[in-house]
Amino acid sequence: MLRALSFLFVCLLGVFAMTVSTSAQSVSDKAKKLQSSSIVIDTHDDTTQRLLDPKFDIAARHTDGNIDIPRMRDGGLSAVFFSIWISGKILGPEAMKQALDQIDAVRETVRKHPSDLVLATTAEDVRDAKTHGKIAALMGVEGGHMMGNDLSVLRTFAALGVRYMTLTHMENNEWADSSTAKPEHNGLTDFGKEVVREMNRLGMIVDISHVSDKTFYDVIATSKAPVFASHSSCRSICNAARNMTDDMIRALSSNGGVIQINYHVGFLSQEFRDFEAAHPEAEKEINEEVKKRCGNNEGCTSVAGDQVVRDLMNSGKLPKVDWSLIVDHIDHAVKVAGVDHVGLGSDFDGAVMPLGMQDVTHIPQITDALLKKGYSESDTRKILGENTLRVLSEVQRVSRDLHSH
Ligand SMILES: [Zn+2]
Repeated sequence: MLRALSFLFVCLLGVFAMTVSTSAQSVSDKAKKLQSSSIVIDTHDDTTQRLLDPKFDIAARHTDGNIDIPRMRDGGLSAVFFSIWISGKILGPEAMKQALDQIDAVRETVRKHPSDLVLATTAEDVRDAKTHGKIAALMGVEGGHMMGNDLSVLRTFAALGVRYMTLTHMENNEWADSSTAKPEHNGLTDFGKEVVREMNRLGMIVDISHVSDKTFYDVIATSKAPVFASHSSCRSICNAARNMTDDMIRALSSNGGVIQINYHVGFLSQEFRDFEAAHPEAEKEINEEVKKRCGNNEGCTSVAGDQVVRDLMNSGKLPKVDWSLIVDHIDHAVKVAGVDHVGLGSDFDGAVMPLGMQDVTHIPQITDALLKKGYSESDTRKILGENTLRVLSEVQRVSRDLHSH
């Protein structure tokens, strides 16, 4: 989730004609076949915000937003991590209450759609879901502020089925520094290291998206299990603090982890970032437009922001960011880290999607592009989901080992 549409632009009011985005790219039969026979996992989706709206029906096909059951099926998605997210400014009992409400919303959504969705907490659960023709629903808590400074809350999240926690969101918390705030703790505090060790024991993946570089290296030095970046891209292509440097990507691969490439335009495209830096007044105007449309409804806010910015790209008022940049980031990360350490973490329903990737139905294009680039079927399967399953299995194994000692 990107709070504050911190990438946007200028003088737009009145130009929101609903321009139709670029049409679907053609996908080869070989890629379609590979997509449907592979485990395809997306490690970061903010659709939970929409699930909180009683009017939203995930079983219906929508023309807005990026995810629903019919479109996940069309895109060949096997498993999705629903993000449990609230602003890093909300703290204390209110933060825990809202996190529990979102966990409940995901669990209730799964309960109400038993022929399409199944709650998954292990790699085996994800494979079983695929075998039974269902989509595996997993959960990740996006922001350690939701557990406060209380390991019992972390253990409760794990008991309810949460399988990763992003240590920070855009703000620092009391035990870890974020990549988008002024450093306070020089990375992880001693308690932050205890959080990482407890996550290892509980079998939760430590998610290093959003954390500061120093926090990242502290996590790598502390964690006994592989970690991942649930939704980050490559800083050497697009210089955003939220992206990973090549050195970080290499350290992640030595740890056995995975960088899950984020599709957000402001993390994919340097041209887009440069443009936004040159037009600092833009953010306010777009935020005002989104606020006008959505009030305080978070589900509406992310969906509306995505639409507004994509309409502006289509009409030429913002630099056009093409979906193929996702493949450039994947390919770069593979060159740096090896093919065993790269995956997909779209940020659907929480960010601005590039042209040609307006929803989950378009992900087979990534498979097709990788095959056309010369990736083998087996390497492509790793990127689509097998690498993530390996991390899940390994985290489970470390948890079992820690319990037996
Ligand atoms: Zn995020």
